This record gives sequence, structure tokens and C-alpha cells, in this order.
Amino acid sequence: MKSNKVANKLQIDTVIKNLEKRNMKGYYCEDRETACQLILSMIKDKSIVCWGGSVTLGEIKIKEKLAERDLEIIDPYSTDDPAESIERRRRGLLSDYFLMSTNAITMDGELVNIDGFGNRVAGLCFGPKKVIIVAGANKLVQGLDDALPRIKVNAAIPNCVRLNRNTPCTITGVCSDCLTEDCICSDIVTIRYSISSNRIHVILVNEDLGY
Ligand code: SF4
Repeated sequence: MKSNKVANKLQIDTVIKNLEKRNMKGYYCEDRETACQLILSMIKDKSIVCWGGSVTLGEIKIKEKLAERDLEIIDPYSTDDPAESIERRRRGLLSDYFLMSTNAITMDGELVNIDGFGNRVAGLCFGPKKVIIVAGANKLVQGLDDALPRIKVNAAIPNCVRLNRNTPCTITGVCSDCLTEDCICSDIVTIRYSISSNRIHVILVNEDLGY
């Protein structure tokens, strides 16, 4: 194993231990294929599955695999009708399984996320019975002070560019803490502990995934 992979594994093992004290369950996966298989094994047939917007979920190709299963899938992003998309986001908050990535995870096991509409962080906090998070090693940060700078530079700005948003960062490449209609940074949420046991499951993958 290359030394950067070994270092990632050591860091992920530390994060998994620290997630435990925060009443969240962590898992190590060597690669995206293993992560995809693990998610499939966690989801029972005939359940309701929804997800938050995530490049990572696209990269591990979990949606295609779930489509082959006996599940009720609520996909807020597969419609061009804005009202229908909002309605699906609302219904997704009562799903059995909610899939997402995280924008950052500290070495001490805190999850930090920024959201535009808020459906992703809402599902993370409360509603869906189980939350399954998949994150590449690129999402690891040392501490909370490092989380927001990472998210702004590596996630929010590239996402604004990808989504063709009319925000200052798509012109300057720099976050100016905008208050615009197109802003995707409305809500900033840190999960430091899960009151419910066996609810938040965090799959950490030893490769770069998403933003
Ligand atoms: S400029 Fe606005 S949309 Fe862009 S990263 Fe900053 S807060 Fe988010």
C-alpha cells in the first residue's frame, strides 16, 4: 500500500474510534466498490430510500444499484419541476434510509455540512430512521477550525461553478460570504453527538470522492 494510503487508513481508524464516543458508527472501506456493496447490505428491501445532493453518491454508483432493488426511492434531483423537487425533499425526511456525504469530518469525529435548501442537513439531524454517510479521505480535516475553510474552498465554490450559480465566488474564485438568491451556503450544521443509537452510519473510503 502506498504511504499516503497507509496514512489515510491510520487517520480513518482514529476517526472511527472517535465517532463511537459520539454515538455514531464508522466503517472503513478500501475503495468505492466496497463502499457501494456495504451500503447495499445495510438497506432492507421494501424500505423507503432518499438522498441529499452528493457528487460522492454519483461516483460510487449506488443509485443505479438501488434502482435494481425492491425499494421505494424518492429522488429529489430526477425531476425538472422545482415544486415537485421540493415536495420530494419534504417526503424524503420521512424515509427509512437517507444517503448523503459530508462536507467535512474532523479527526475527532464531528460532521460539518453546508446546505442551500436545508433538506440534506435536515435529514441528517432528524427524520429519516437511518442516515448513511459516505465520505472519501479528502473530507478529513484536523479540527473544527479547518472544516469551514475546507468546505468553502473545496466544496462550495466548485459546486457553485458546477451548478452555474450567480454568486460572487463563481467570478472571483473566493468566498465573500454572499447573501444572494443563488447562494448554496444557507445552513451550516455540525453534528457533535447523535442522541439516537444506531442512526448515523459513516462509511469512510480510502480514496478521494466528491468535493
Ligand atoms: S460566495 Fe456565497 S455561495 Fe459562494 S462559497 Fe461564499 S457563501 Fe457560498
